[in-house]
Amino acid sequence: MADKITYSNTPNKTSEFLRLTITLLAKHKISAHPHNYQLGYEYVSGKNQLLIDDLDKLIEQSNSPEEKQLSNYTETLHQFIDILDNQNSSSLLEETHSLEKSQQRLESQIFDIVAEVDSLRKELQQVKEESKIDALTGIANRKAFDATLEHSILTSRETNKPFCLLLLDIDHFKKFNDTYGHLIGDKVLRYVAASLKRSVKGNDCVARFGGEEFVIILPATSINGGMTVAEQIRKAVSSGTLTDKGSDISYGKTMISIGVTQFRASDLSNELVGRADKALYLAKERGRNRVEKL
Ligand code: GH3
Ligand code: MG
Ligand code: MG
Repeated sequence: MADKITYSNTPNKTSEFLRLTITLLAKHKISAHPHNYQLGYEYVSGKNQLLIDDLDKLIEQSNSPEEKQLSNYTETLHQFIDILDNQNSSSLLEETHSLEKSQQRLESQIFDIVAEVDSLRKELQQVKEESKIDALTGIANRKAFDATLEHSILTSRETNKPFCLLLLDIDHFKKFNDTYGHLIGDKVLRYVAASLKRSVKGNDCVARFGGEEFVIILPATSINGGMTVAEQIRKAVSSGTLTDKGSDISYGKTMISIGVTQFRASDLSNELVGRADKALYLAKERGRNRVEKL
């Protein structure tokens, strides 16, 4: 058991110790509640060499990087408890235990906050992903297509590999909507989107360009390859028949026209899309349900 410490009663001395204690606590950002104050007071008054040595060690150890400070502080409290244990100072020990508990609560609150930030970050990521998807058909939307196209242009310029752009448009869709209504028209849009997805490889980008128009980017593909894929897609779409499951009504075949073009190194994205649009116009002009290139 440590020797009992006697304190000086001289007002000048005690005022001096008071000033030094407050400076010490402030310097190490230790809250000045009575028990910490007592520890600080004993430290500055130089009466308790054992305490001085232990606290000096702790102060030295706590000069660590910021991110470790919280757990260091908890660790410091643990060590305070050890010191107090050795000194047999039971009320101080109790208070420090309770301080340690509130410190643990604070740490657990911080962990909860970190977990919440993490979950919000995941939600944000999901919202970002959803912002690239067309709500009706579930394929990429125009915004995602624009980004992929810019990326494809840069890649093609860097690698010197060609790529193809396909612009697709459903034939006589207005008439279809007028005949069967917009809800059935929406089903056709979903059917075409699914059919396009099934007809291309995983690396190819299939997107809804707007209304009843779709676009496909075929990376590392030249015009001949692009024409072949476009022809396969046209056949795949027109081979299916949309029927109403309940009434067995058939809505007939869905025909599409496709314009195909290959990227040229000098192309800006709007020039490339413009050329695919002209090729699509040719396909419409030449009878629809066909593929044309430019
Ligand atoms: P063309 O063969 O020349 O392409 O004729 P079209 O009737 O397909 O072309 P037009 O541009 O005259 O009409 C396109 C139609 O597409 C008109 C519009 O009602 C329909 N449409 C566009 N977006 C949607 C949609 O989200 N849902 C439905 N149901 N219809 C849509
Ligand atoms: Mg159209
Ligand atoms: Mg159309």
